[in-house]
Amino acid sequence: MQMERTVSRRHFVELSGGSVAALGMLLYRFPEFEQLLAEAVAEIPVIWLQAGTCTGCSVSVLNTLSPKIQNVLVDPVVPGKHFSLRYHATVMAGSGDLAMKAMEDTAEMKGKYLLIVEGAVATKDDGVYCAIGEKDGQGITALEHAERLGRDAMAVVAVGTCAAYGGLPAANPNPTGCQGIGEVLADRAINTPVINLPGCPPHPDWVIGTVATIFLGGLSAVEVDDEGRPLAFYEKLIHDYCQRRSFFDTGKFAEKLSEPYCLFHLGCKGPVSYADCPTRFWNSGTSWCIGASHPCIGCVHPGFPDAVSPIYRKLELTSVSVPARTSTPTSTEAPEGISRPAAIALGVGGYAVGAGVATGVAYAIRKKKEGKGSSDREQSEEAGK
Ligand code: SF4
Ligand code: SF4
Repeated sequence: MQMERTVSRRHFVELSGGSVAALGMLLYRFPEFEQLLAEAVAEIPVIWLQAGTCTGCSVSVLNTLSPKIQNVLVDPVVPGKHFSLRYHATVMAGSGDLAMKAMEDTAEMKGKYLLIVEGAVATKDDGVYCAIGEKDGQGITALEHAERLGRDAMAVVAVGTCAAYGGLPAANPNPTGCQGIGEVLADRAINTPVINLPGCPPHPDWVIGTVATIFLGGLSAVEVDDEGRPLAFYEKLIHDYCQRRSFFDTGKFAEKLSEPYCLFHLGCKGPVSYADCPTRFWNSGTSWCIGASHPCIGCVHPGFPDAVSPIYRKLELTSVSVPARTSTPTSTEAPEGISRPAAIALGVGGYAVGAGVATGVAYAIRKKKEGKGSSDREQSEEAGK
């Protein structure tokens, strides 16, 4: 008798059902199997350090839609990997010595925990301006935490523009000497990898997506640009994907916020900001800044806020062409205090450069810039001299 080599769909479903039922019985009869399965889910310990912050970045991440925050904290973020949040001063149940012990116990796991930093780190006067917890009655500065925890972490994720580049606490005149965590570690020759997720606040997807990518494929799976930003979220120039771009191209500019035209003349910083806001949307996919009739304020820009202020002042142009306003002709000047790639994207070689080409040029320049090692902020400072 010849053996039947094929299995019908119906037979397959019956077999599968039987297997699942059998596995269920097995687990019921041998609870240690359940334990083994649970152990197969690796715990990734996470310390979330809040330095000079308004806590807005935490609030943004807590509002993550898919997955919801309870799923992030309770379920595996990706199959087999669980985000084990050991310390977060705002949301953790423990407080005082109990909370500090949770941090200390996790810090013992050298090279195995992920350090998430929110907010800028005050460095002036040994960081005395920001303390988190205490030891033997003495406050421990955020700077001390950043150095110690940053040195032993498997990686550091800087959540928000303040953590990434200094942001608002580092704005001129920066009285407390605030810096982004990457700069703090580099100044102390600590070479733990740092991934920057700028934004004021950053989109929850940028944070959860980056952490999930690390869990899935390790650090090397996160491809970053020369500013340490994951390309998956920060590769595109907002100006190139903006729904109002056709108005920019045809010279139709809003003169007040309620007008549905390009917001360039009202200070839009989309031409110098890299993020996927125009396609990702905010608030559970509801809208985004320009969709809500407000100019992009460049909250993801490495020089935010100084390099992109004032909010409502039009970017100054010196070497690029901008089409004349439908009603009022405008000038052609180069961006002041903004990055060169954005200037290129705006139309070096003539304004006739199309959006797609402009994106390609901007990208090429960004890649080239990596080799030169100059940052947007450095260029902004250059431009500001
Ligand atoms: S200037 Fe701003 S509003 Fe106008 S197209 Fe660019 S990003 Fe959109
Ligand atoms: S549109 Fe601009 S200001 Fe708004 S969140 Fe995106 S980068 Fe920030």
